[in-house]
Amino acid sequence: MNPDRPNLLGMTPPQLQDVLAEHFTLRGQPGYRARQVEEWLFRSDARSFGDMTNLPVSERDALSNAFRLDEPAVDTVSESADGTVKHLWALRGGEVVESVLIPTRHRLTLCISSQAGCALRCRFCATGWSGFGRQLSPAEIAGQYRASARWAAEHGRGPVTNVVFMGMGEPLANRKAVFPALTILNAGYGIGARRITVSTVGVIPGIAELAERPEQFRLALSLHAPVTELRAELIPLERRYPLDQLIEALEAFNRKGGRRITFEYTMIRNVNDDPALIAPLADLANRVQAFVNLIPFNPIPYVEWQPSRPSRVREFSERLEAAGVPSAVREPRGRDIDAACGQLRAKRLGRTASARGQDHPGRIPNRPRAGGGSSSGHYPKGSENPN
Ligand code: SAH
Repeated sequence: MNPDRPNLLGMTPPQLQDVLAEHFTLRGQPGYRARQVEEWLFRSDARSFGDMTNLPVSERDALSNAFRLDEPAVDTVSESADGTVKHLWALRGGEVVESVLIPTRHRLTLCISSQAGCALRCRFCATGWSGFGRQLSPAEIAGQYRASARWAAEHGRGPVTNVVFMGMGEPLANRKAVFPALTILNAGYGIGARRITVSTVGVIPGIAELAERPEQFRLALSLHAPVTELRAELIPLERRYPLDQLIEALEAFNRKGGRRITFEYTMIRNVNDDPALIAPLADLANRVQAFVNLIPFNPIPYVEWQPSRPSRVREFSERLEAAGVPSAVREPRGRDIDAACGQLRAKRLGRTASARGQDHPGRIPNRPRAGGGSSSGHYPKGSENPN
Protein backbone atom coordinates (compact mmCIF):
# COMPACT_ATOMS: atom_id res chain seq x y z
CA MET A 1 0.00 0.00 0.00
CA ASN A 2 1.28 3.44 -0.91
CA PRO A 3 2.04 5.23 2.40
CA ASP A 4 1.52 8.69 0.83
CA ARG A 5 -1.79 7.87 -0.74
CA PRO A 6 -3.46 11.07 -2.01
CA ASN A 7 -6.62 12.11 -0.17
CA LEU A 8 -9.46 12.28 -2.69
CA LEU A 9 -11.44 14.62 -0.41
CA GLY A 10 -8.96 17.41 -1.14
CA MET A 11 -9.43 17.30 -4.91
CA THR A 12 -11.60 19.52 -7.09
CA PRO A 13 -13.90 17.64 -9.50
CA PRO A 14 -11.53 18.15 -12.49
CA GLN A 15 -8.52 16.98 -10.43
CA LEU A 16 -10.51 13.99 -9.27
CA GLN A 17 -11.46 13.06 -12.82
CA ASP A 18 -7.83 13.26 -13.97
CA VAL A 19 -6.49 11.17 -11.12
CA LEU A 20 -9.24 8.57 -11.32
CA ALA A 21 -9.19 8.35 -15.11
CA GLU A 22 -5.51 7.50 -14.94
CA HIS A 23 -6.06 5.00 -12.13
CA PHE A 24 -8.87 3.16 -13.90
CA THR A 25 -7.24 3.25 -17.35
CA LEU A 26 -4.15 1.55 -15.95
CA ARG A 27 -6.43 -1.08 -14.51
CA GLY A 28 -8.29 -1.58 -17.79
CA GLN A 29 -11.57 -0.36 -16.28
CA PRO A 30 -14.30 1.49 -18.18
CA GLY A 31 -14.32 5.28 -18.23
CA TYR A 32 -17.52 5.64 -16.19
CA ARG A 33 -15.83 4.29 -13.04
CA ALA A 34 -14.37 7.75 -12.31
CA ARG A 35 -17.85 9.29 -12.38
CA GLN A 36 -19.16 6.58 -10.10
CA VAL A 37 -16.51 7.39 -7.50
CA GLU A 38 -17.16 11.13 -7.82
CA GLU A 39 -20.85 10.50 -7.25
CA TRP A 40 -20.09 8.51 -4.11
CA LEU A 41 -17.89 11.25 -2.73
CA PHE A 42 -19.99 14.33 -3.44
CA ARG A 43 -23.55 13.01 -3.52
CA SER A 44 -23.77 9.78 -1.59
CA ASP A 45 -21.45 10.59 1.30
CA ALA A 46 -19.36 7.41 1.11
CA ARG A 47 -17.22 7.07 4.23
CA SER A 48 -14.91 4.48 2.74
CA PHE A 49 -14.17 2.82 -0.58
CA GLY A 50 -15.92 -0.25 0.81
CA ASP A 51 -19.19 1.73 0.71
CA MET A 52 -18.99 2.07 -3.09
CA THR A 53 -21.19 -0.89 -3.75
CA ASN A 54 -21.68 -0.41 -7.49
CA LEU A 55 -17.96 -1.02 -8.00
CA PRO A 56 -16.51 -4.54 -8.13
CA VAL A 57 -14.92 -5.56 -4.84
CA SER A 58 -11.53 -5.79 -6.55
CA GLU A 59 -11.85 -2.14 -7.62
CA ARG A 60 -12.84 -1.01 -4.11
CA ASP A 61 -9.72 -2.73 -2.79
CA ALA A 62 -7.53 -1.18 -5.47
CA LEU A 63 -8.90 2.27 -4.62
CA SER A 64 -8.15 1.80 -0.92
CA ASN A 65 -4.60 0.78 -1.78
CA ALA A 66 -4.09 3.86 -3.92
CA PHE A 67 -6.02 6.64 -2.16
CA ARG A 68 -7.30 7.92 1.17
CA LEU A 69 -10.66 9.42 2.18
CA ASP A 70 -9.55 11.14 5.39
CA GLU A 71 -11.82 13.60 7.15
CA PRO A 72 -10.97 15.65 10.22
CA ALA A 73 -11.78 13.52 13.27
CA VAL A 74 -14.38 14.75 15.75
CA ASP A 75 -12.72 15.77 19.00
CA THR A 76 -15.70 17.41 20.73
CA VAL A 77 -19.24 18.44 19.78
CA SER A 78 -20.96 21.09 21.91
CA GLU A 79 -24.52 22.28 21.50
CA SER A 80 -25.61 25.71 22.63
CA ALA A 81 -28.96 26.52 24.19
CA ASP A 82 -29.61 28.70 21.12
CA GLY A 83 -29.17 25.76 18.70
CA THR A 84 -25.65 26.59 17.62
CA VAL A 85 -23.44 23.50 17.35
CA LYS A 86 -19.69 23.65 17.56
CA HIS A 87 -17.34 20.94 16.37
CA LEU A 88 -13.77 20.81 17.45
CA TRP A 89 -11.81 18.77 14.90
CA ALA A 90 -8.58 16.93 15.61
CA LEU A 91 -6.18 17.16 12.69
CA ARG A 92 -3.02 15.26 11.85
CA GLY A 93 -0.09 16.45 13.89
CA GLY A 94 -2.12 17.39 16.96
CA GLU A 95 -3.67 20.64 15.73
CA VAL A 96 -7.32 21.41 16.41
CA VAL A 97 -9.74 23.68 14.55
CA GLU A 98 -13.38 24.60 15.01
CA SER A 99 -16.42 24.85 12.83
CA VAL A 100 -19.85 26.04 13.90
CA LEU A 101 -23.34 25.23 12.61
CA ILE A 102 -25.63 28.22 13.04
CA PRO A 103 -29.35 27.68 12.46
CA THR A 104 -31.53 30.65 11.60
CA ARG A 105 -35.12 30.59 10.42
CA HIS A 106 -34.55 29.64 6.81
CA ARG A 107 -30.91 28.69 6.79
CA LEU A 108 -28.31 26.50 8.29
CA THR A 109 -25.00 28.32 8.03
CA LEU A 110 -21.71 26.52 8.54
CA CYS A 111 -18.78 28.63 9.70
CA ILE A 112 -15.46 26.95 8.88
CA SER A 113 -11.77 27.45 9.62
CA SER A 114 -9.03 27.97 7.05
CA GLN A 115 -5.96 27.90 9.33
CA ALA A 116 -5.11 26.37 12.69
CA GLY A 117 -4.69 29.60 14.62
CA CYS A 118 -3.89 32.83 12.84
CA ALA A 119 -0.80 34.95 12.30
CA LEU A 120 -2.47 38.33 12.03
CA ARG A 121 -3.07 39.11 15.71
CA CYS A 122 -6.09 41.39 15.56
CA ARG A 123 -6.37 42.67 19.11
CA PHE A 124 -10.00 41.74 19.69
CA CYS A 125 -9.73 38.19 18.32
CA ALA A 126 -8.97 35.16 20.49
CA THR A 127 -7.64 33.16 17.54
CA GLY A 128 -4.96 35.76 16.90
CA TRP A 129 -3.86 35.62 20.51
CA SER A 130 -3.58 31.85 20.44
CA GLY A 131 -0.93 32.14 17.71
CA PHE A 132 -0.41 30.50 14.34
CA GLY A 133 -0.36 26.71 14.13
CA ARG A 134 -0.33 25.78 10.47
CA GLN A 135 -2.17 26.07 7.18
CA LEU A 136 -5.09 23.74 6.57
CA SER A 137 -5.15 21.64 3.41
CA PRO A 138 -8.05 21.68 0.91
CA ALA A 139 -9.16 18.31 2.34
CA GLU A 140 -9.18 19.69 5.90
CA ILE A 141 -11.23 22.71 4.84
CA ALA A 142 -13.74 20.87 2.64
CA GLY A 143 -13.73 18.00 5.15
CA GLN A 144 -15.19 20.29 7.82
CA TYR A 145 -18.15 20.79 5.49
CA ARG A 146 -18.52 17.11 4.66
CA ALA A 147 -18.43 15.93 8.26
CA SER A 148 -20.60 18.79 9.57
CA ALA A 149 -23.22 18.32 6.87
CA ARG A 150 -23.43 14.65 7.81
CA TRP A 151 -23.78 15.50 11.50
CA ALA A 152 -26.56 17.98 10.69
CA ALA A 153 -28.42 15.46 8.53
CA GLU A 154 -28.13 12.73 11.13
CA HIS A 155 -29.38 15.06 13.87
CA GLY A 156 -32.41 16.38 12.02
CA ARG A 157 -30.96 19.83 11.38
CA GLY A 158 -31.49 19.67 7.62
CA PRO A 159 -29.03 20.54 4.88
CA VAL A 160 -26.28 23.12 5.26
CA THR A 161 -27.45 26.03 3.07
CA ASN A 162 -24.58 28.51 3.49
CA VAL A 163 -20.87 28.37 4.22
CA VAL A 164 -18.87 31.25 5.65
CA PHE A 165 -15.09 31.38 6.14
CA MET A 166 -15.42 33.08 9.51
CA GLY A 167 -13.92 30.43 11.74
CA MET A 168 -10.29 30.37 12.67
CA GLY A 169 -7.67 31.86 10.40
CA GLU A 170 -7.37 34.31 7.55
CA PRO A 171 -8.64 32.54 4.41
CA LEU A 172 -6.86 34.88 1.99
CA ALA A 173 -3.54 34.11 3.73
CA ASN A 174 -4.06 30.45 2.76
CA ARG A 175 -5.17 30.84 -0.82
CA LYS A 176 -3.29 27.74 -1.93
CA ALA A 177 -5.83 25.64 -0.04
CA VAL A 178 -8.85 27.96 0.18
CA PHE A 179 -9.22 28.50 -3.58
CA PRO A 180 -9.43 24.79 -4.40
CA ALA A 181 -11.67 24.30 -1.36
CA LEU A 182 -14.06 26.90 -2.80
CA THR A 183 -14.22 24.86 -6.02
CA ILE A 184 -14.79 21.65 -4.07
CA LEU A 185 -17.66 23.19 -2.08
CA ASN A 186 -19.25 24.81 -5.12
CA ALA A 187 -18.63 22.47 -8.07
CA GLY A 188 -18.27 19.32 -5.96
CA TYR A 189 -20.85 19.50 -3.19
CA GLY A 190 -23.09 21.88 -5.15
CA ILE A 191 -23.29 24.83 -2.76
CA GLY A 192 -24.13 27.93 -4.81
CA ALA A 193 -21.28 30.44 -5.00
CA ARG A 194 -23.54 33.18 -3.64
CA ARG A 195 -24.08 31.04 -0.58
CA ILE A 196 -20.36 30.92 0.16
CA THR A 197 -18.74 33.92 1.85
CA VAL A 198 -15.03 34.51 2.19
CA SER A 199 -14.31 36.80 5.13
CA THR A 200 -11.02 38.68 5.17
CA VAL A 201 -9.37 41.26 7.33
CA GLY A 202 -8.05 42.82 4.13
CA VAL A 203 -5.44 40.84 2.21
CA ILE A 204 -5.52 42.89 -0.99
CA PRO A 205 -3.84 40.41 -3.38
CA GLY A 206 -6.33 37.78 -2.21
CA ILE A 207 -9.28 40.09 -2.86
CA ALA A 208 -7.92 40.72 -6.37
CA GLU A 209 -7.58 36.99 -6.97
CA LEU A 210 -11.08 36.28 -5.71
CA ALA A 211 -12.39 38.98 -8.06
CA GLU A 212 -10.86 37.06 -10.97
CA ARG A 213 -12.86 33.95 -10.19
CA PRO A 214 -15.82 33.48 -12.52
CA GLU A 215 -18.06 32.22 -9.69
CA GLN A 216 -19.89 34.85 -7.66
CA PHE A 217 -18.48 34.07 -4.25
CA ARG A 218 -19.38 36.64 -1.65
CA LEU A 219 -16.84 38.74 0.16
CA ALA A 220 -16.95 40.07 3.71
CA LEU A 221 -14.41 42.63 4.86
CA SER A 222 -13.68 42.78 8.57
CA LEU A 223 -13.54 46.55 8.69
CA HIS A 224 -14.02 47.40 12.39
CA ALA A 225 -12.93 51.02 11.91
CA PRO A 226 -13.53 53.41 9.01
CA VAL A 227 -10.33 55.44 9.55
CA THR A 228 -6.74 54.28 9.19
CA GLU A 229 -5.27 55.27 12.56
CA LEU A 230 -7.95 53.57 14.60
CA ARG A 231 -8.05 50.55 12.32
CA ALA A 232 -4.30 50.11 12.68
CA GLU A 233 -4.67 49.99 16.46
CA LEU A 234 -7.08 47.08 16.14
CA ILE A 235 -5.66 45.31 13.08
CA PRO A 236 -1.87 45.19 12.53
CA LEU A 237 -2.41 44.26 8.86
CA GLU A 238 -3.78 47.76 8.25
CA ARG A 239 -0.17 49.00 8.14
CA ARG A 240 0.55 46.70 5.26
CA TYR A 241 -2.73 47.03 3.36
CA PRO A 242 -4.12 50.45 4.25
CA LEU A 243 -7.78 51.33 4.08
CA ASP A 244 -7.64 53.56 0.99
CA GLN A 245 -6.01 50.77 -1.06
CA LEU A 246 -8.37 48.24 0.43
CA ILE A 247 -11.41 50.22 -0.66
CA GLU A 248 -9.94 50.50 -4.16
CA ALA A 249 -9.57 46.72 -4.23
CA LEU A 250 -13.23 46.40 -3.22
CA GLU A 251 -14.29 48.83 -5.94
CA ALA A 252 -12.47 46.63 -8.45
CA PHE A 253 -14.19 43.56 -6.96
CA ASN A 254 -17.52 45.36 -7.38
CA ARG A 255 -16.84 46.16 -11.01
CA LYS A 256 -16.91 42.42 -11.70
CA GLY A 257 -20.63 42.69 -11.04
CA GLY A 258 -23.23 40.54 -9.36
CA ARG A 259 -21.46 40.20 -6.03
CA ARG A 260 -22.33 41.57 -2.67
CA ILE A 261 -19.77 42.96 -0.25
CA THR A 262 -20.41 42.96 3.48
CA PHE A 263 -18.57 44.98 6.09
CA GLU A 264 -18.17 43.32 9.46
CA TYR A 265 -17.99 45.86 12.26
CA THR A 266 -17.35 44.48 15.73
CA MET A 267 -18.52 47.16 18.15
CA ILE A 268 -16.22 47.64 21.13
CA ARG A 269 -17.28 50.06 23.84
CA ASN A 270 -15.33 53.34 23.79
CA VAL A 271 -12.93 51.93 21.21
CA ASN A 272 -14.63 52.08 17.82
CA ASP A 273 -18.19 53.14 18.66
CA ASP A 274 -17.88 56.91 18.70
CA PRO A 275 -20.87 58.34 16.77
CA ALA A 276 -18.39 60.52 14.89
CA LEU A 277 -17.34 57.33 13.08
CA ILE A 278 -20.78 56.75 11.58
CA ALA A 279 -20.39 59.27 8.74
CA PRO A 280 -17.02 57.91 7.50
CA LEU A 281 -18.35 54.37 7.86
CA ALA A 282 -21.42 55.25 5.78
CA ASP A 283 -19.19 56.88 3.15
CA LEU A 284 -17.06 53.77 2.74
CA ALA A 285 -20.12 51.52 2.63
CA ASN A 286 -21.74 53.71 -0.01
CA ARG A 287 -18.58 53.71 -2.12
CA VAL A 288 -18.68 49.93 -2.50
CA GLN A 289 -22.42 49.37 -1.90
CA ALA A 290 -21.66 47.31 1.17
CA PHE A 291 -24.11 45.85 3.62
CA VAL A 292 -22.93 46.47 7.19
CA ASN A 293 -23.10 43.81 9.90
CA LEU A 294 -22.82 45.36 13.36
CA ILE A 295 -21.58 42.74 15.82
CA PRO A 296 -21.35 43.54 19.52
CA PHE A 297 -17.84 42.57 20.66
CA ASN A 298 -17.73 39.13 22.21
CA PRO A 299 -15.49 39.38 25.29
CA ILE A 300 -12.42 37.16 25.19
CA PRO A 301 -9.91 36.13 27.85
CA TYR A 302 -7.10 38.58 28.65
CA VAL A 303 -8.82 41.48 26.91
CA GLU A 304 -10.59 44.02 29.07
CA TRP A 305 -12.76 45.44 26.32
CA GLN A 306 -16.54 45.36 26.57
CA PRO A 307 -19.25 45.22 23.92
CA SER A 308 -20.85 48.52 22.97
CA ARG A 309 -24.05 49.39 24.79
CA PRO A 310 -27.21 48.31 22.94
CA SER A 311 -28.34 51.94 22.60
CA ARG A 312 -25.07 52.77 20.82
CA VAL A 313 -25.40 49.79 18.50
CA ARG A 314 -28.94 50.93 17.66
CA GLU A 315 -27.72 54.45 17.00
CA PHE A 316 -25.13 53.14 14.53
CA SER A 317 -27.71 51.00 12.81
CA GLU A 318 -30.34 53.77 12.55
CA ARG A 319 -27.97 56.42 11.33
CA LEU A 320 -26.44 54.06 8.77
CA GLU A 321 -29.93 53.35 7.44
CA ALA A 322 -30.63 57.08 7.31
CA ALA A 323 -27.46 57.49 5.24
CA GLY A 324 -28.75 54.88 2.80
CA VAL A 325 -26.61 51.99 4.09
CA PRO A 326 -28.39 48.69 4.78
CA SER A 327 -27.28 47.13 8.04
CA ALA A 328 -28.13 44.45 10.55
CA VAL A 329 -27.24 43.85 14.16
CA ARG A 330 -25.82 40.36 14.73
CA GLU A 331 -25.89 38.87 18.16
CA PRO A 332 -22.94 36.56 18.77
CA ARG A 333 -24.38 33.05 18.82
CA GLY A 334 -23.39 30.12 20.97
CA ARG A 335 -21.69 32.14 23.68
CA ASP A 336 -22.33 29.42 26.25
CA ILE A 337 -20.17 27.00 24.27
CA ASP A 338 -17.44 29.48 23.32
CA ALA A 339 -18.60 29.21 19.73
CA ALA A 340 -17.29 32.65 18.91
CA CYS A 341 -13.75 33.27 17.91
CA GLY A 342 -11.32 30.48 18.70
CA GLN A 343 -11.67 30.38 22.45
CA LEU A 344 -11.91 26.65 22.82
CA ARG A 345 -8.74 26.06 20.85
CA ALA A 346 -6.92 28.59 22.96
CA LYS A 347 -8.07 26.77 26.11
CA ARG A 348 -7.27 23.40 24.63
CA LEU A 349 -3.75 24.20 23.62
CA GLY A 350 -3.13 26.10 26.82
CA ARG A 351 -1.77 28.90 24.68
CA THR A 352 -2.44 32.31 25.99
CA ALA A 353 -1.03 35.70 25.34
CA SER A 354 0.88 35.66 28.61
CA ALA A 355 2.11 32.11 28.09
CA ARG A 356 3.75 33.26 24.88
CA GLY A 357 5.23 36.33 26.43
CA GLN A 358 3.28 38.77 24.31
CA ASP A 359 2.05 42.17 25.29
CA HIS A 360 -1.14 42.17 27.22
CA PRO A 361 -3.69 42.89 24.53
CA GLY A 362 -6.30 44.57 26.68
CA ARG A 363 -4.75 47.99 26.84
CA ILE A 364 -5.49 50.36 24.02
CA PRO A 365 -2.53 52.41 22.98
CA ASN A 366 -3.16 56.12 22.74
CA ARG A 367 -1.53 56.06 19.39
CA PRO A 368 -0.27 53.17 17.31
CA ARG A 369 3.07 51.87 18.43
CA ALA A 370 6.02 52.97 16.36
CA GLY A 371 6.71 50.40 13.68
CA GLY A 372 3.19 49.08 13.92
CA GLY A 373 4.16 45.40 13.80
CA SER A 374 3.43 45.13 10.09
CA SER A 375 6.84 44.16 8.75
CA SER A 376 7.17 40.84 6.98
CA GLY A 377 8.84 39.50 10.11
CA HIS A 378 5.34 39.50 11.52
CA TYR A 379 4.50 36.19 9.90
CA PRO A 380 5.77 33.17 11.74
CA LYS A 381 7.73 30.55 9.91
CA GLY A 382 5.48 28.28 7.92
CA SER A 383 2.64 30.72 7.55
CA GLU A 384 1.89 32.02 4.12
CA ASN A 385 2.93 35.60 3.86
CA PRO A 386 -0.34 37.18 2.73
CA ASN A 387 1.41 39.13 -0.01
N1 SAH B 1 -9.76 36.33 9.29
C1 SAH B 1 -11.06 36.49 8.74
C2 SAH B 1 -12.08 35.46 9.20
C3 SAH B 1 -12.09 35.04 10.66
S1 SAH B 1 -12.81 36.09 11.86
C4 SAH B 1 -11.57 37.88 9.07
O1 SAH B 1 -10.93 38.57 9.84
O2 SAH B 1 -12.58 38.28 8.52
C5 SAH B 1 -14.52 36.17 11.54
C6 SAH B 1 -15.14 37.44 12.09
O3 SAH B 1 -15.22 37.43 13.53
C7 SAH B 1 -14.35 38.67 11.72
O4 SAH B 1 -15.21 39.68 11.25
C8 SAH B 1 -13.73 39.04 13.04
O5 SAH B 1 -13.37 40.38 13.07
C9 SAH B 1 -14.82 38.69 14.03
N2 SAH B 1 -14.36 38.62 15.41
C10 SAH B 1 -13.17 38.19 15.86
N3 SAH B 1 -13.10 38.28 17.20
C11 SAH B 1 -14.27 38.79 17.62
C12 SAH B 1 -14.81 39.11 18.91
N4 SAH B 1 -14.10 38.91 20.02
N5 SAH B 1 -16.06 39.61 18.97
C13 SAH B 1 -16.78 39.78 17.83
N6 SAH B 1 -16.34 39.50 16.60
C14 SAH B 1 -15.09 39.01 16.48
